Amino acid sequence: MLNEMLEHAASIAIGGHVRPDGDCVGSCIGLYQYIRDNYREKEVVLYLEEIPEPFKFLKGTEAIHHEILEDKIYDLFICLDCGDEDRLGFSAPLFRRAANTVCIDHHISNGNFAKENYVIPEASSTSELIYNLADKEKISKSAAEALYLGIVHDTGVFQYPNAGPSTFTAAAELLGKGIDGPKMIRETFYVKTYAQNQILGRALMESILFLHGTCIVSYIRKTTMDFYGVTPKELDGIVNHLRNTKGVKVAVFMYELETEVYKISLRSDDTVDVSAIAGRYGGGGHKRAAGLTMTGSFYNIINRLSAQIESQLKGVI
Ligand code: 5GP
Ligand code: MN
Repeated sequence: MLNEMLEHAASIAIGGHVRPDGDCVGSCIGLYQYIRDNYREKEVVLYLEEIPEPFKFLKGTEAIHHEILEDKIYDLFICLDCGDEDRLGFSAPLFRRAANTVCIDHHISNGNFAKENYVIPEASSTSELIYNLADKEKISKSAAEALYLGIVHDTGVFQYPNAGPSTFTAAAELLGKGIDGPKMIRETFYVKTYAQNQILGRALMESILFLHGTCIVSYIRKTTMDFYGVTPKELDGIVNHLRNTKGVKVAVFMYELETEVYKISLRSDDTVDVSAIAGRYGGGGHKRAAGLTMTGSFYNIINRLSAQIESQLKGVI
């Protein structure tokens, strides 16, 4: 399938979503390495915002472009792990100008905004989709590392229900390429800096239960992030700790992007469709994991979200 997609394109751009996470980086680097390894005659450039430090060991990350340098028109723009055009961020103009566009994604909120769309909401990760689309024998060790990392991150280390039999098959075959899975899991998923762990501690300590203990919320102000010297992309994972509170069906984690502008992560145990709630306010994601940006005070935002959650929890609480 990738073969047909790439066949008629001499120049290819790959782009992922803003604030790239493990699956975004894994799928983008996995595909980028796959093309570099097997289609040497093609020009391929990967456009992504600055990626988290622990992912920089992946081969290919050193060649990522963080800005658009020219008015280039690519034959093909491949958009990965990205549910809407706005989420492409700085690379969106290249997407709009490209002769052909393809989107490979697993977000249920994806509106099929490219010319060709390969959107499978049941898939664990975009990395698993890239694995499925690739010729297995053409996947190099470095591409395998990236795809494995993406699967690990979007399944919370094979823990979430999105990790099905096909996910374990893909992971097993990627491990067969000789990669060090346990080292990647530890160093990219579990190990946090001292400052990250301190801010996690604060978020847990200051969390608040609401809707009779079925929901939990915590937030971090910009001043707190500055105090600990922690950037937004280093706050990944805090919402999952909140979610592990007994009795909690929905976890909400918010951090301040600027005064009264909050980036919000939502997680649910499947009782509530958080993608629908995020979608109401311009965000999106999956049924159990979604994100959005909202403006207002902390209490104003949590009141609005709480009303949405409560209406879905009718009959449960
Ligand atoms: P996270 O809470 O980890 O940032 O994101 C959870 C899921 O929701 C991810 O699949 C992510 O791609 C998606 N997501 C997060 N923020 C947004 C947003 O602002 N808009 C959309 N469409 N999806 C988002
Ligand atoms: Mn993903």
